[in-house]
Amino acid sequence: MKERELKELICDIGKRMYTNGFVAANDGNITVRLSEKEYLTTPSGISKGYLRPEMIVKVDGKGETLEGGYEPSSEVKVHLKIYEQRGDVGAVVHAHPPYATTFAVAHIPLDSYLLPEAVYALGAVPVIPYAQPSTQELADELVPYLQDYDAFILENHGTVTVGTDVIKAYYKTETLEYNAKITYMTRLLGRQNELPRDEIDKLLAAFQKNNPGATHPGYIKLND
Ligand SMILES: [Zn+2]
Repeated sequence: MKERELKELICDIGKRMYTNGFVAANDGNITVRLSEKEYLTTPSGISKGYLRPEMIVKVDGKGETLEGGYEPSSEVKVHLKIYEQRGDVGAVVHAHPPYATTFAVAHIPLDSYLLPEAVYALGAVPVIPYAQPSTQELADELVPYLQDYDAFILENHGTVTVGTDVIKAYYKTETLEYNAKITYMTRLLGRQNELPRDEIDKLLAAFQKNNPGATHPGYIKLND
């Protein structure tokens, strides 16, 4: 995909994040890896609902601006740490979706296997210990979890999802938030029926068939 098209896609996904209520005001950020040395990032201080392609900033592997008249996202350090640790990741989405963020504030991981789509796409979602947003410490807290999961809940903060491209990374945020919403409501009902183990195994087998050679995210918990 050409750089201009990627910038338009980032704007489109920003709009979806904003209209879905996954971010308030200027919260959240999206990045895409162009190469080992070039990344596109949403700008700092602009609502994701009102992005235009010319606002998207190009940065290097240290987060220094290469092209663009806006400040790069303040969370770019966290995104760059993920790219450094995961060669398979092409895009990262950070948001504050309300149900998943409720679990973030409660420090409760999403590791009940209630919905087949969530088991297939995400597996277990861990809670990452709190560190101040936009800091190297937050990036470092993520490191021990990065190899085993594609979705993360940041304590008292929000969510991070990763994917091979920006649409896949964003859809994981949607799946995570939907799963958080259903999990929350079933806990209000006081009753949760997890999928049986053999059905989880079938979903894992389907994932392996459709993604040869890939490791299922959240597989450690699923294989307990
Ligand atoms: Zn945030």
